[in-house]
Amino acid sequence: MSAFIESKVLSVHHWTDTLFSFTCTRDPAFRFENGHFVMIGLMVDGKPLTRAYSIVSPNYEEHLEFLSIKVPNGPLTSRLQHIQVGDTVIHGRKSVGTLVTSSLRPGKNLYMFSTGTGLAPFMSLIRDPELYEQYDRLILTHTCREVGELAYHDLITNELPNNEFFGEQLKEKLTYYPTVTREAFRNQGRITDLIRNHKLFEDIKAAPLNPETDRVMICGGPAVLAETVELLRERGFKEGAAHTPGDYVIEKAFVEK
Ligand code: FAD
Repeated sequence: MSAFIESKVLSVHHWTDTLFSFTCTRDPAFRFENGHFVMIGLMVDGKPLTRAYSIVSPNYEEHLEFLSIKVPNGPLTSRLQHIQVGDTVIHGRKSVGTLVTSSLRPGKNLYMFSTGTGLAPFMSLIRDPELYEQYDRLILTHTCREVGELAYHDLITNELPNNEFFGEQLKEKLTYYPTVTREAFRNQGRITDLIRNHKLFEDIKAAPLNPETDRVMICGGPAVLAETVELLRERGFKEGAAHTPGDYVIEKAFVEK
């Protein structure tokens, strides 16, 4: 049995010059937890060329969806960005990831802080009906440089609230807080600054971060991850893991090479 599953591309959407997403067929035998990532890629000269990708689609959907950066000269994404409907992509048989609520102690509010493609795992999590049972309030932040990079903004704002299964709970419990750093927008600034100066909490009408009540998941670039973790530790938050649930969990949206 091959280490990889082949999938056919069903649709491709280019959000900006540097960001695209695509859907592909799903082998019914491929199971994953919402929030997980999997190795995906292309066969190049007869060999697999794969990278870690968070799964955007929730685990009950028939297809799979991924959100991708286009790295100039990036070995995978310089090729992957040209995929067309009907092309074949490959992905691993096993998914993994730390962004799971079983690694968190029970809490009232779940903060999901994302930057760039770090939004991807939260797109599957916010469509997980169980999350709405577990928490009183869910707060999803997404920070990008430009407004056009706020992928899925319209889906989250206009479509998900009408979902027949979890729309009502989403309307009641989910606060979506997109922010932009290099253009005019209704919310502006880096998320770490907005936490530090309390603007985030004023805007969403919440008390500042508190390990007694709040749980946090973070997915972003290495620098913002490190800074956010520092802010959490200063406030007494402890990192969680599979066998030792804590107050926050993190996943890198990419690694610097
Ligand atoms: P690479 O040689 O892999 O990367 C070259 C450089 O590009 C990196 O050193 C980094 O500086 C930059 N870079 C890579 N990925 C990103 C990114 N996403 N955003 C900003 N800069 C980046 N990428 C996605 O696009 N979507 C995902 O859902 C995703 N999930 C990931 C989950 C995990 C756990 C990890 C570790 C990485 C994830 N990545 C994701 C990054 C992905 O694995 C690849 O690095 C990316 O697809 C680029 O591949 P490449 O071969 O073109 O370039």
